[in-house]
Amino acid sequence: MHYHYRVEDVVTLKKGHPCGENRWKILRTGADIKLQCLGCDRQIWLTRMEFDKRIRKILNDDGKWVSIVHFRREEEEDV
Ligand SMILES: [Zn+2]
Repeated sequence: MHYHYRVEDVVTLKKGHPCGENRWKILRTGADIKLQCLGCDRQIWLTRMEFDKRIRKILNDDGKWVSIVHFRREEEEDV
């Protein structure tokens, strides 16, 4: 299954960052995903596969948290 993520999307992962925050902003998409912790600004890289396994929720365009299994984006933008 393939989801479409965009730079600037905010997501939560299965496990939060050690700093206590669990909101991450996507900085880079592609084969590897670069995330920035919104608590401490630390940046991490995950492979696309790791990212797909760890992602739980995404903040949608209406400002609501949506479980990733229910998330669909209308337009087809390949990222
Ligand atoms: Zn952090």
